Amino acid sequence: KAKDNGKNCIYRYNNQLHQSILNRVELARLLRQALDNKTFELHYQPKFDSESVSCIGFEALLRWRHPETNEFVRPDIFIPIAEETGLIIPLGKWILEQACAQLKQWHDMGYPELSMAINLSGRQIQASSLYQDIYQAYTRYELPSSAIEIELTEQVFIENIIQHENFMRKLTNSGVSLSIDDFGVGYSSLSYLKNFPVDTLKIDRSFIQELPQNYNDVCIVKAIIGLANSIDLKVIAEGVENKEQLTFLNQQGCKYIQGYYFSKPLTSEQITQKLTAEDDWFIKKQDFVF
Ligand code: C2E
Ligand code: MG
Ligand code: MG
Ligand code: MG
Repeated sequence: KAKDNGKNCIYRYNNQLHQSILNRVELARLLRQALDNKTFELHYQPKFDSESVSCIGFEALLRWRHPETNEFVRPDIFIPIAEETGLIIPLGKWILEQACAQLKQWHDMGYPELSMAINLSGRQIQASSLYQDIYQAYTRYELPSSAIEIELTEQVFIENIIQHENFMRKLTNSGVSLSIDDFGVGYSSLSYLKNFPVDTLKIDRSFIQELPQNYNDVCIVKAIIGLANSIDLKVIAEGVENKEQLTFLNQQGCKYIQGYYFSKPLTSEQITQKLTAEDDWFIKKQDFVF
């Protein structure tokens, strides 16, 4: 009897495995189709300077609707498939192109100080043309390199820094800035941060969530902010959802903030609308006093 159950379990397991492989193959096919049909979208989450409570720029976040349900599928689910199949290479070019075109439009509305952060996957770094692709995307839209920020997760950064150090140095020498995303969950050695051209540490949301109640998180966040400040890196907190978190971060000297407390990721139309309405978030160029 027990043996029967065991067999059943294995059967069920295999069946599930089979199903999940089929799902992945099907997802891969749908993703390729979406790239051909240009049905991917970018949403843009504002980044804030918490002192002036003004928007300093955006992070482009990829969005994809499943064609059958018409519902958004989480990027955590479909991006790994795009990576495995290599689709991330042409898709990544599209993201760069789209994000730069959008930023140019917002600059031209009178907001040339706004920056655009673009997430890259490891697979993209390993492709030889990435530096060219980035360079071409921002120069095509006559954007200054300083308006472009590349986000690499700590894990991707560590896995690639040795082999792709040249790429990273070339990138930051060109004026593009480099942020270490999801910082704190990986295993960065401090010497990497000191010796490699990193501009910003982006504290992972998991350390922000339970601030200021969770004592461990309080210590970790304080340490990251202290570390960043002492080696002259910018620091931004991601996933800030409430006033208490913001207050704590401000007290600790973390100037830059991203999260639902200020804004969820928005569509380009929503941001254009805010810029057109000269929303308080934005400082228009002619408002600057020279
Ligand atoms: P990430 O780069 O760390 O992006 C931050 C994620 O946290 C986004 O999820 C964002 O919507 C979410 N988020 C921001 N503020 C809050 C908050 O206050 N509370 C909560 N609960 N969540 C918040 P999203 O858009 O689902 O993206 C997930 C991940 O997928 C990203 O993490 C990034 O690693 C990857 N990703 C997204 N777009 C791209 C892309 O264009 N290219 C690549 N290579 N990866 C991307
Ligand atoms: Mg990011
Ligand atoms: Mg992040
Ligand atoms: Mg994250």
